[in-house]
Amino acid sequence: PRRSVYPAGLDSFNMGGKIPLGLKRKGLRIVVTGGAGFVGSHLVDRLIARGDSVIVVDNFFTGNKDNVMHHFGNPRFELIRHDVVEPLLLEVDQIYHLACPASPRVGARFLLTSTSEVYGDPLQHPQVETYWGNVNPIGVRSCYDEGKRTAETLTMDYHRGAGVEVRIARIFNTYGPRMCIDDGRVVSNFVAQALRKEPLTVYGDGKQTRSFQYVSDLVEGLMRLMEGEHVGPFNLGNPGEFTMLELAQVVQETIDPEAKIEFKPNTEDDPHKRKPDITKAKELLGWKPKVPLRKGLPMMVADFRQRIFGDQKSSGA
Ligand code: UDP
Repeated sequence: PRRSVYPAGLDSFNMGGKIPLGLKRKGLRIVVTGGAGFVGSHLVDRLIARGDSVIVVDNFFTGNKDNVMHHFGNPRFELIRHDVVEPLLLEVDQIYHLACPASPRVGARFLLTSTSEVYGDPLQHPQVETYWGNVNPIGVRSCYDEGKRTAETLTMDYHRGAGVEVRIARIFNTYGPRMCIDDGRVVSNFVAQALRKEPLTVYGDGKQTRSFQYVSDLVEGLMRLMEGEHVGPFNLGNPGEFTMLELAQVVQETIDPEAKIEFKPNTEDDPHKRKPDITKAKELLGWKPKVPLRKGLPMMVADFRQRIFGDQKSSGA
């Protein structure tokens, strides 16, 4: 069984400990689609911890029971294996929609997790929510980009047409414990490669940039968005911007200074740069990320070490 993935000292650092959320109110009934996934499971931990009842709906395509197993036996926790493309009737107060397809329900407030990919290969830098983006409609990665753009459209149509209470988050690259080890994201690739003494695969010239957010910062932002009175969309990301070569360097510093770098051809339509402008979230949600890459990466490395090499009586984390 898994234990907390936050080393004791860093837990309070991450969570701030001063969050007004959840004070002075009864527990809510909350559905988290994709709740057994990387981000979803961290969100579930926070909701359960503050006293809410949580129903996780997950088809386990990419989610993993291990991520929520520590809640089994808790009467405020339920896990349903279900694909959200099929209807599901549940009476709840809030829906955090982290699984991909969409299906809002009467009465509940619906939060869509959209993505920075809606900005495509952006011609504006950093990206502000009012920027409409630069997406190739027929490219190799358009199914994801256009899918999320359509989800935003439908969410706003349900809001305007049917009066559904909605919230939209545009999530920028996020990393942390419980991330899939092998689905090809850059941070998980580099960390797994360095731990396994394999070369870090940098695609293209490595000068493209991304801005990496630690998962607890994202979860805090999602909760503030859900509880607040603003629909959004809101960028949720860490403005700390890195080239992929810089990221490789941070991974070397953190895990293995001897790790080699191997250049590989890049995929088509790869966005050249990406960095959130988070002025809107700062002003209207009172949110900003707290965990810089060099603080967050070691916490992810501890988790990856354990999952890749098994339990090795590690000290601390
Ligand atoms: N990337 C890389 N090596 C890898 C995986 C990805 O250099 O092993 C690059 C990729 O080309 C892109 C960036 O890292 O420029 C981020 O890729 P990722 O898939 O993590 O996120 P996204 O492109 O969706 O933002």
